[in-house]
Amino acid sequence: MARALIVGGGIAGDTLALFLGRDGWEVTVAEIAPAPRTGGQTVDLRGDCREVLRQAGLLEQALGCLIPQRGAAWIATDERRLAEMPVEAFDGQGLVSREELLRTDLARIIHEAAGPGVTHRFGDTVDALRDQGSRVLARFRGGASEEFDLVVGADGAHSRVRALRFGPEENYRRPLGLAHAWFTLTESPGTPRLDDWFLLYNAPGRRAMAARPGHPGQQEVGLTFAADTLPPRHDREAQFALLERTFADAGWRAEEFLAAARKAPDFALDTYDQVHMPSWSVGRVVLLGDSAWCASPLSGLGTALALRGAAELAAALRSAGVHSDPTDPSAALTAFETTMRPRAASAQQLPPGRVAMVAPHSTLGIRINAWAMRAIQAKALRPLMARAFAATEHGRRPAETEGMRPEVTN
Ligand SMILES: Cc1cc2nc3c(=O)[nH]c(=O)nc-3n(C[C@H](O)[C@H](O)[C@H](O)COP(=O)(O)OP(=O)(O)OC[C@H]3O[C@@H](n4cnc5c(N)ncnc54)[C@H](O)[C@@H]3O)c2cc1C
Repeated sequence: MARALIVGGGIAGDTLALFLGRDGWEVTVAEIAPAPRTGGQTVDLRGDCREVLRQAGLLEQALGCLIPQRGAAWIATDERRLAEMPVEAFDGQGLVSREELLRTDLARIIHEAAGPGVTHRFGDTVDALRDQGSRVLARFRGGASEEFDLVVGADGAHSRVRALRFGPEENYRRPLGLAHAWFTLTESPGTPRLDDWFLLYNAPGRRAMAARPGHPGQQEVGLTFAADTLPPRHDREAQFALLERTFADAGWRAEEFLAAARKAPDFALDTYDQVHMPSWSVGRVVLLGDSAWCASPLSGLGTALALRGAAELAAALRSAGVHSDPTDPSAALTAFETTMRPRAASAQQLPPGRVAMVAPHSTLGIRINAWAMRAIQAKALRPLMARAFAATEHGRRPAETEGMRPEVTN
């Protein structure tokens, strides 16, 4: 039986594990977190997400976890509306859709669907990968070594597999000049309610805050600011201190959000980066998802691409019969890259002004932003914008983001 090692049990890794397990592979998923990772904002079920979940037989389950949404609103510090885009805008094809679920729920649904051929090693990763021609020898952090016919690096934008087999992150990372913190806020009796609206607030100095509906009694919060580098990931205190310095005088609910960040079990902070690689495979090692092509949360397509990429890689391996004869997976890996590269490249092409729009420098920029959000919904421009929203491949929204809203929409 062909054996695959998938490093990283996120959306890309667990989706691939699901498909390969069904195709008869013996699959090991090494996930560095001690348990399936929760957290993240919403995932839009339009476009590729929907198609791949349907193919996996998981669409109904995903549709059962939708978050109630009324739309997005750009607000002033006193919550006065500067602009709104309800879910009905552009015939339901606008920025926020009625069909969104939390990344946490999507990850759980995919993870729980893994069949008996899939084994997860939580709290583990690879320390070394040696390509021996006919197989790859992987040494796990725990000390054990095992041989695999295929190794997939689905370990995100800061991929260890990429570092081990393709070289250091700085060779491939393109920072976009922004950083983003996200976490879940648990409501208390005094917490301002969202009434199912996704609220976006900008403060001068390239600072943005957003809160959107989460599970009942929870809000998903995002804080975005200008930065190319951050304190080390293990130095939580330095990360909180940076956020506090940046947002202390930002207005709206800054004080409350900064306090909630410290208490959140799923707090995360990262830069908005893209990953650009000349090739996604070397020998029997292939990259998938953010590790290969991260388009950044600003694309609004990270999860859609992760799902689509997993489906395409599984399909390429299946049609080349690698599960029954793993002697040479190279044709399948080339076919996968040929199919996926144009999609990834298209997602990486952010519309002009996209980065500036998320976090404008000045009060004037903030006003222009709100005006633009109103203007694109004006009657005269509606047909044009509806075409632009609908034409964006894979359900891509021109106006907003994943991390800010659209992630994951990844
Ligand atoms: C908890 C979480 C929350 C997120 N929230 C958002 C969000 O709100 N907005 C947004 O735009 N994007 C978010 N993302 C990113 C988004 O999920 C991805 O851009 C997209 O789904 C592509 O998925 P991926 O599987 O390629 O990468 P990821 O989703 O990043 O998954 C990578 C997985 O690999 C694991 N991993 C990392 N390093 C190693 C290692 N060395 N060894 C083994 N495992 C490793 C990680 O723990 C993770 O489970 C989030 C990701 C995670 C993990």
